[in-house]
Amino acid sequence: MGPDGDALGSMLALGLALRKRGMTVNASWGSDPFSVPKHYTFLPGQELLKPPQDFPAAPPLMITFDAGSIERLGTLEPNARKAETLIVVDHHVSNDEFGTLNLIDPKAAASAILVFELIKRLGIDLDTEIATNLYTAILTDTGSFKYRNTTPPVHAIAAELLQFDIHHDDIARTVFDTHPVGFLKLAAVALERAQLRDDASMIWTWVAQDDLKRFDLELEDTESLIDILRTADTAEVACVMKQGLDGKYKASLRSKGNANVGAVAQQLGGGGHAFAAGFTANGDPHAAVDEIARRLATA
Ligand code: 5GP
Ligand code: MN
Repeated sequence: MGPDGDALGSMLALGLALRKRGMTVNASWGSDPFSVPKHYTFLPGQELLKPPQDFPAAPPLMITFDAGSIERLGTLEPNARKAETLIVVDHHVSNDEFGTLNLIDPKAAASAILVFELIKRLGIDLDTEIATNLYTAILTDTGSFKYRNTTPPVHAIAAELLQFDIHHDDIARTVFDTHPVGFLKLAAVALERAQLRDDASMIWTWVAQDDLKRFDLELEDTESLIDILRTADTAEVACVMKQGLDGKYKASLRSKGNANVGAVAQQLGGGGHAFAAGFTANGDPHAAVDEIARRLATA
C-alpha cells in the first residue's frame, strides 16, 4: 500500500522546504509496485519522488514520516539502517524511537504538525506548494477537522496555511469526495453484506480481490469505504477486511472513541492510533474478525 495523506504530505512538504535550502532531496516509500495513490497525485513536489530501488543505499541523512517502527518502511528498511543520520518524525503513540534523532509527539494530530513546526524553526519560508502538502496531511489525519485530535492549535495552523493561495475546496473534494463510479457499486455490495457483532459493538464487512476485479478497482480505491461503515449508529467499532494482491486480508479499524482499536491492532501484529488502526491477518478474515471481537469484548 502507498502512503496516506499525512505520510506523503509531510514528506513532500519537508522535501520542498529542504530543497529551498539547496539540499538534494529524494522522496520515496518502500512498496512494490511504486505508484502515487490517485487521490494524492495533485500534491506539489512529485518531481522529488523516486522508486525505492533508485533511493540511495546509505544516505547521509534519511528522514521518515508517520512510521511507528522501522519495519513499516518496507523495502526501504535496509536504507534506513545504513543511513548516517536517521530522523524519525511521527505521532504514533506506539513509536519505538528507531531513529538516531526522534521527533515524536503522540499528541500531535498529524506528523505534518511536527513538520510545520520544524520548517518554522529552520527559518524556511512557507509557500503555496509546502502549504498545500501540509494542509492536505492535516485534513487527512483529522478527518476534515472532525476527529478529537482537532485542537485549537490545529485550526490556528490551518488558518496560517490558508493564507497561501491553496485551493482547500479542491483539496477536500479530491481527497474525500471523488470516487470512480465502480467504487459506489462496490460500496453497495460491501455495505449490503455488512455484519453486526453485538458482542463487540462492531460492524464489519470485507472486500475480496474478486470484488475489485468486478468493478475494475484497485485496493487504494477502497480507502474510504470504512468512512461509510463507521457511521452505523449501533456500533462503536467499524472494520473492513481488504484482500491484497498477495491474497492476505488487511484489517482497517475505526473507533468512535471508547474502544482502543490501536491496542487491539498492535496485539494482532499491526498498530496505529487509538481511533484508527490496522493489521494484516494471516488467514481467513472471519477468524480474524472473531479475534478482534474477542479482544474488544474483553478490553
Ligand atoms: P488504514 O485503516 O487507513 O489502513 O490505517 C489506519 C492507521 O492504522 C494508519 O494510519 C496506520 O497508522 C495504522 N496501520 C494500518 N495498518 C497497519 C499495520 O499493518 N501496521 C502498523 N504498525 N500500523 C498500521
Ligand atoms: Mn499520521
